[in-house]
Order: sequence, then C-alpha cells, then structure tokens
Amino acid sequence: MATYDDTNIFAKILRGEIPCKKVYEDDWSLAFHDINPQAPQHILVIPKGKYVSIDDFSAKASADEIAGLIRAVGNVARQLGLDAPGYRILANIGLDGGQEVPHLHFHLFGGKKLGPMLRRD
Ligand code: AMP
Repeated sequence: MATYDDTNIFAKILRGEIPCKKVYEDDWSLAFHDINPQAPQHILVIPKGKYVSIDDFSAKASADEIAGLIRAVGNVARQLGLDAPGYRILANIGLDGGQEVPHLHFHLFGGKKLGPMLRRD
C-alpha cells in the first residue's frame, strides 16, 4: 500500500494552498472541476482524509468517511442535473490504472453520450 504524499496537488487544494473551481463540499468530501476536462462536465470528487487510492480507503477509512464520499458523488451528480441523463464515474488506481495524482479521486463525467467504457486499442 503506497504511503500518502502530503505534497500532492489535491492535498494542496484541500489545504487551500492552490485554488480550485469548487462545486460541492461537506464534512467528508470536496468536489471541483477537473482542470483538463474530458467531457462537458468533468468533476473530481475527493475525500478530505489522506488516502492514496481506493486500496487504502477501503481498508482504513471509517464507515462515515466511506458513506460521506459515496453520498458526495450522488449529491454532485444531482446538483449538476446529471442524474436524469446519466453520467459515468471512474477511479484510476495505481500504475496500470493510470493514476496521476496520488490522492483518491472519483472522476464524474457527463453532459454527452460517453461512448464505450474503455478505449479499444
Ligand atoms: P488521474 O489520472 O486519475 O490521477 O487524474 C488526475 C486528474 O487531475 C486529471 O484529470 C487532471 O486533469 C486533474 N488535475 C490535475 N491538477 C488539477 C488541478 N490543479 N485542479 C483540478 N484538476 C486537476
């Protein structure tokens, strides 16, 4: 299990050291626009706790933290009106998953038909 790196970009956003375009916040989670959107709506939903990925989050987070993050995803989708047309959630984990930022995050994509689940190459 990877060690959490306090210098990662989302840790800096959580500490208020760099700005984000916030869409939602509660006791457990923060959601903000991805800086390089891959869909008309591309939001990142992150836990406030220090978790590298779903690997340590699922092993170490409290039930309240886990419920809080999942509820935040649903709240963000409803807030943006994506619940009716539909949307996609994605979490990249580790090297094979292509994870770039080592703080757990769910990508929430919406605003158009999103096509196949994975690129076929
Ligand atoms: P991943 O590859 O799953 O780790 O995704 C990291 C995501 O973070 C990418 O989609 C980036 O565009 C996004 N990102 C990186 N820096 C920032 C930032 N300062 N604010 C918002 N999104 C960011």
